[in-house]
Amino acid sequence: MSTDLDQRLKEYEGKEAGGPEVGADPVNIPMIRHWCEAIGDQNPVYLDEAAAAASVHGGIIAPPVMLQAWVMRGIKSRPATGGSLTDELYRLLDAEGYTSVVATNCEQEYHRAVRPGDHLSTIATIESVSEEKTTALGVGRFVTNRIRYVDQHGEPVADTLFRILKFKPPAKPDATERPPRPRPAITQDNAFFFDGAKAGKLLIQKCASCGKLRHPPRPVCPHCRSLEWTAIEAAGRGTVYSFVVNHYPQVPAFDYPLPVGLIELEEGTRLVSDIVGIDPADVKIGLPVQVEFQRFDDELTLPVFRPV
Ligand code: ZN
Repeated sequence: MSTDLDQRLKEYEGKEAGGPEVGADPVNIPMIRHWCEAIGDQNPVYLDEAAAAASVHGGIIAPPVMLQAWVMRGIKSRPATGGSLTDELYRLLDAEGYTSVVATNCEQEYHRAVRPGDHLSTIATIESVSEEKTTALGVGRFVTNRIRYVDQHGEPVADTLFRILKFKPPAKPDATERPPRPRPAITQDNAFFFDGAKAGKLLIQKCASCGKLRHPPRPVCPHCRSLEWTAIEAAGRGTVYSFVVNHYPQVPAFDYPLPVGLIELEEGTRLVSDIVGIDPADVKIGLPVQVEFQRFDDELTLPVFRPV
């Protein structure tokens, strides 16, 4: 079903967008050389007068794919000499909520080689404006422009098709809604630790053969290679062995500055954990701490450490 907007957009199809857009400079060797250096193209037909003269081209030509460089407005923009109807079309789409833009495809067809001394300009035609399409980026409309490149005599040197998608940006998540804390990757080896935390216990893996503790959980004892293990419930007392205070990057689920400690437990092993209940500036190596269990939601409870 076509809407009023569809009708209005259809009126742009086939119309000349304005112009011509005239290149700031004629095709010239310094720009060719800079472009080739930037891209890493060493084709002598672009760079070497003698080699180019001996080639089928009979002299230096510009790389075909740098076509657009000859009419670009540059970093310091100069007033547009064309494109006014395209600008009007984009303003209309902006007003209808299609405010985001992404280029989707570009096709170029070359009619002849471009040479130093050619002075190019472009004439743009709005070829089509699609009906509203659903894309991975959001709902939008494809706008296809056909751009003809002509030389100073008005003779065509190339035609290009340039298609963009103007789309409605997805709604931003509510900034006041805090996202859930990232989930740990639960495996058969570490599930006991997180199950223990849910039950309010700090469980540490213990080798069943040599009796040494290890954390984080893993299948093999690094001391005796045994696969047999059990777990002990730690008392939860320890000291800060080392720590960092994270400032950036800030992940929305956390509060910053965020002190994270390497806690040395009385039992003799260490684990990484949040340090809570203290001004981050006051965290010190050797600070005595005690575990407590912070329940984030139904799925996730984690041990954290508070100064005693
Ligand atoms: Zn062992």
